[in-house]
Amino acid sequence: MIFLSTLFFVVAGTLLEGLLVKLPILSKCGDANERVGVIHVHTRASDGSGTVAEVMAAAEKANLSFIAITDHNVAMTESDLALDPPDLPIISGVEVGTNAGHFLALGIPPSWVQPKTTDDRTLLAAARAVGAFRILAHPFHPHTPWTDWKTSDFDGMEIWNEDAAWRQNNFFDLMDALLLYGVNNQLALVRLASTPEENFAKWDQLLQQRPVAGICAADTHARIRLAFGKDWRFPGYVPSLEVAREHVLLPPDAGNGNPALASPAELIDALKNGHSYCGLDSLYPADGFSFRISSASSSSGPGDSLHWTGTARIQISTPSGASLPLIKVFRDGREITEEQTRSIDEPITGPGRYRAEVFLRQPGLTGLRRWTLWVFTNPVYVTAQ
Ligand SMILES: [Zn+2]
Ligand SMILES: [Zn+2]
Repeated sequence: MIFLSTLFFVVAGTLLEGLLVKLPILSKCGDANERVGVIHVHTRASDGSGTVAEVMAAAEKANLSFIAITDHNVAMTESDLALDPPDLPIISGVEVGTNAGHFLALGIPPSWVQPKTTDDRTLLAAARAVGAFRILAHPFHPHTPWTDWKTSDFDGMEIWNEDAAWRQNNFFDLMDALLLYGVNNQLALVRLASTPEENFAKWDQLLQQRPVAGICAADTHARIRLAFGKDWRFPGYVPSLEVAREHVLLPPDAGNGNPALASPAELIDALKNGHSYCGLDSLYPADGFSFRISSASSSSGPGDSLHWTGTARIQISTPSGASLPLIKVFRDGREITEEQTRSIDEPITGPGRYRAEVFLRQPGLTGLRRWTLWVFTNPVYVTAQ
């Protein structure tokens, strides 16, 4: 009896909170130089539940400015790629399965046929040969992690993978989120977010050797296999495309002077060079977040290098309107600053790879106000020579 009444209050409390907590509605990013998109989406061409047209309708509803579709071992066709409007380009991608794990190849030619092998090095080389941007997918996934860390023949890695993140929750958190999902899908998916510590640690290690672009990925399938051949569209395309999004920072000459019309090639180029940051936008839209290191003569953003001349300042600003964030700054993988503040402007002491992680508290009572990863940036490389 006590158990049943406790259960009743827990369920009623969760549902009530789902009805009361209002997370911000996402709109199109106002800054033309910043394009907000989602990488790593599956369609019916492999194990997703929607057609390309359905995915594009969801992307439009989610106010994205680009999307990278990456089905398992099958490239998109010319006619699929023709479905994109100029202000919402599709990046042609594929998720290549290998005996060492999965990687994304972005910018592959339409109908590209990958070699018939599972050898990761052969497949990475084949994707490189067609000029693709190669990103290790969910490298610490519980079932399909990346295992060949001896190769350096890749350009980027997923730091956050939404599909891997929600699956890492315990049974009770999953049940809680499923209950919430019916009344407030945005809050339900925010509740399942966690900080990918292993990914950050590996990334910091790789950055000591060479630049590696870090991105967030949705890995949307909108499909969970149920019994008797039935599927459940969870999490749906629209809510999934609203969770974590990559904010690409473009030069003013992109898109022939109109970055809002940047081509897939220009977006890939920026992503590959680390000119981007990830925002868990359903918590609060990260649009306009800024991370720079400036010396007397120049100023550098994510992915850029800056020559150390003896003095420089790190400058971070977060969009107003969010609750008070917690900002952490890392130099060569070591935390050097941790502050609850909306902005930071302080000197740095020498060369290194500098990046930031920013956290916001979970909204609502059952979120226990725990800090949740909101933004992470690609590093600025401060070089000694
Ligand atoms: Zn995968
Ligand atoms: Zn995938």
